[in-house]
Amino acid sequence: MTDPTLLDLTHDALAHALEALGHPAYRARQIETAVLQGLAASYDEVSTLPVALRRDLAARIPFTVCDPVGSAESPDGETRKTLFRLRDGETIEAVTMAYPDRFTACVSSQVGCAVGCPFCASGQGGWVRDLSPGEIVAQVLHAARAASRLNRRLTNVVYMGMGEPFSNYDAVLSSIRILNDPRGFGLGARSFTLSTAGDVPGIRRLAAESLQVNLAVSLHAGNDELRSSLIPLNRQFPLGELLEACRAYAKTTHRRVTFEIALIDGVNDGRRHAAEVAERLRGLLCHVNLIPWNPVPHRRWRRSAAAAVETYREVLTKAGIATTVRDSRGVEIQAGCGQLRSQRQAEDARSATR
Ligand code: SAH
Ligand code: SF4
Repeated sequence: MTDPTLLDLTHDALAHALEALGHPAYRARQIETAVLQGLAASYDEVSTLPVALRRDLAARIPFTVCDPVGSAESPDGETRKTLFRLRDGETIEAVTMAYPDRFTACVSSQVGCAVGCPFCASGQGGWVRDLSPGEIVAQVLHAARAASRLNRRLTNVVYMGMGEPFSNYDAVLSSIRILNDPRGFGLGARSFTLSTAGDVPGIRRLAAESLQVNLAVSLHAGNDELRSSLIPLNRQFPLGELLEACRAYAKTTHRRVTFEIALIDGVNDGRRHAAEVAERLRGLLCHVNLIPWNPVPHRRWRRSAAAAVETYREVLTKAGIATTVRDSRGVEIQAGCGQLRSQRQAEDARSATR
């Protein structure tokens, strides 16, 4: 574990760190007001601090390194994906999505991912390391600056970028607590959504936190054999166990669980696949989000045809399950999980061999 950087710290931790360095604790609030509300991107921008103190802090509690080094925008300009370089040179991605009624940041929780789902770009390179709370907070603040330039406010944060959030549980929860603190960034707990490939202990732990965050579970199939081939974690936590944990989550939190289903042509998008899912979800307080799959390199699969998506949706709707189809915005800019990073790695590898 490396030394904490500024955005890793809760209010109390920052106040203690400042006191330990011989500075008054009230500086913590000044820094937070400038950084979490004023969206200052460095100590130099915290004009309420004396210049000497800014220099001292930059050396002792460094600003979190999460520098934008590349981006891509959808043709309509509403979806923007940013590639960030971290202190150790690793790269991660985050996406902003501007909707008429909300402005959402989709953030990464790990560099790479250990789960290894074959349809996902992040899963292909394996796990590299966990992100610190500050590296997650930094992605959100970057998105908030983008929103503010458009005279918008960031309204939602979804942990659907690279990584499995529940494999980095403590850092993810710390990032939520930091961003949720009403004296700082002040984003309500209900504005956060954690997406998991089905980490049952993580779901149970989250249910016990008495936090009103939203839970999304990547389902992709309603039978264990197919689901295990798409999400290897299903071998450890099969559907029966997973859905029991989801039922308990809905019961404890009174929150509707979202199930995500990425539809791949001829793999999991048939009428019978939809019927299996409908059967499994019977009686569960939930909502299903269908996502036409974004192709990734080295897979010969195709995204489902619009007609198959529609049939799938109909089967679920008829079974009484609220179902929406996520628009495929971002496909043009390779906004699918991990895709910009893998493209950059391929480019780097190509230029290294030139
Ligand atoms: N690891 C977590 C969160 C990150 S992935 C999880 O798996 O839930 C966020 C969502 O994007 C998941 O539902 C995942 O299944 C989906 N996803 C990943 N790659 C995709 C792709 N190429 N096309 C469509 N959805 C994809
Ligand atoms: Fe990891 Fe989620 Fe991608 Fe699976 S879909 S490899 S769990 S990031």
